[in-house]
Amino acid sequence: MEEKEQIQKDLKSIEKKPGERVEYMTPFLLDWFSRQARILPWRTNPKPYYVWVSEIMLQQTRVEAVKPYFSRFIHTLPDIRALAECEEDMLFKLWEGLGYYNRVRNLQKAAKVVMERYQGELPADYPALLELPGVGSYTAGAIASIAYQIPVPAVDGNVLRVMARLTENYEDIAKVSVKKQTEELLKKHMPKENAGAFNQALMELGALICLPNGEPKCGECPVQECCLACKRGVVTELPVKAKKKARRTEEKTIFVIRLADGTVVLHRRAENGLLAGMYEFPNVPEKLDILEAQEVLRNWGIAVQSILPIEEAKHIFSHVEWKMRGYLVEAQREERQQDLAGIFNSKIAETGVFRAKPELEWISAERVQAEIAIPSAFAAFLKYI
Ligand code: SF4
Repeated sequence: MEEKEQIQKDLKSIEKKPGERVEYMTPFLLDWFSRQARILPWRTNPKPYYVWVSEIMLQQTRVEAVKPYFSRFIHTLPDIRALAECEEDMLFKLWEGLGYYNRVRNLQKAAKVVMERYQGELPADYPALLELPGVGSYTAGAIASIAYQIPVPAVDGNVLRVMARLTENYEDIAKVSVKKQTEELLKKHMPKENAGAFNQALMELGALICLPNGEPKCGECPVQECCLACKRGVVTELPVKAKKKARRTEEKTIFVIRLADGTVVLHRRAENGLLAGMYEFPNVPEKLDILEAQEVLRNWGIAVQSILPIEEAKHIFSHVEWKMRGYLVEAQREERQQDLAGIFNSKIAETGVFRAKPELEWISAERVQAEIAIPSAFAAFLKYI
């Protein structure tokens, strides 16, 4: 009997058994991965620390974009001790451009825990990894399997998509329960040897072949014969994923304030919430016209020499979208002698455009370049400093 026919016969007998289907496809998948895996620095040398850092960086960012960040991060902070002891501003600077800064905050929190509890070595223990700040089941599974070959799954969006198609599962992959089911299924049926390669192969399949948005390259897929969605011609219907709630929109006016000597005026955000603790250009809610913008600056005690509208920009976070209007302000030092509170109180009633004066910091352009990370939400305005 031809090999293809034999495979179809075997698969027919396990059609309603997704676990057996996983076992059946494993050799095909591993063989493909051994030939096609991309060469990546954290793969070439899968030290637990490297796997961990790369997985955290990869959570919201493409592999190609992560590579230079990873190299610079590891070069500057070569081990967990260095990460635990790094100044927060330097840490943010290393992360600048990757966004989602909570990831790097948690990375450092977890590094401190690893120093205290595990003498600087990530534990080779899945439940212990799960207790670290910022480490969920996916990251714990990736570290445990790739760095320590512990047979636990690492289920991310790629893997959920691949598994929904392979097993023709119409449940909503955004549901926690579906992720749990998939983890349980894989844990039971993944190979006990070679767990790291198996998990990476599934992720790689999702990243390179079983692409989202109805564009999988089934003709190049190493497990096509084993794929129920492909067999039934329903690939474009899977995975099922409930639509997220619409993002709310916030309008803002952004002030890029600079002095003749290159000093830039920045503001540090509150220690909690969106972009917690990060530096930003001073800003206020709503898109203000130039007169309103001037009034705000006066209230803040900024001695404006000139003010020019610059481009509008937007930035999309997971739950909110900022629509921003920028002003470039050439200024002198603060007019500290003014009775700012008096102005504020009298004008706010008239126009309603004044906001509480933020804590502004006057920082040299050199220091901003070398040490301060400004979130990519403000990327459109960075060229003005
Ligand atoms: Fe994905 Fe197509 Fe491969 Fe099925 S055959 S796993 S749908 S790429």
